[in-house]
Amino acid sequence: MKLIILDRDGVINRDSDAFVKSPEEWVALPGSLEAIARLSQSGWTVAIATNQSGLARGLFDMNTLNAIHAKLHREVAALGGDVDAIFLCPHGPDDGCVCRKPLPGMMHDIARRYDISLAGVPAVGDSLRDLQASAQAGCTPWLVLTGNGEKTRARGGLPANTRICADLAEMVDLLLQDE
Ligand SMILES: [Mg+2]
Ligand SMILES: [Zn+2]
Repeated sequence: MKLIILDRDGVINRDSDAFVKSPEEWVALPGSLEAIARLSQSGWTVAIATNQSGLARGLFDMNTLNAIHAKLHREVAALGGDVDAIFLCPHGPDDGCVCRKPLPGMMHDIARRYDISLAGVPAVGDSLRDLQASAQAGCTPWLVLTGNGEKTRARGGLPANTRICADLAEMVDLLLQDE
């Protein structure tokens, strides 16, 4: 199977320092949902891996997060795309979990779910911790310059095999070109 793993905030939708706490606050970035649809139509399975510490912080509850993700699924489906699964870490930074990126726990969960090796699986993020989790799990990390991406690139220290592109739309162009 062809699997791709996407971070959510700053890759698919606008990120917010105040957290995305409601369906109304979840707003897709230009071209990102169309890019997901192109992946689906080219036979790629799309999974999302997202830190959602807003749950642990009490900023929103699971029902609200489900409503946010229902909106995501609906908007992707309207364009002919599909997000197969959303993996999330509900913990805070001090909870000592193994799933919060930069740790690779969610990536390992994804590998188990699909029963595949993550070697070379493209994984797209806008923050260093996304790239670190991806690299640790054996994925190929891609940095997009949306969301925190410009800041992440400027700070440096990226995993050695990180590929950089403007946004998810360009990433998908390059990925499909290489097939
Ligand atoms: Mg992000
Ligand atoms: Zn966690």
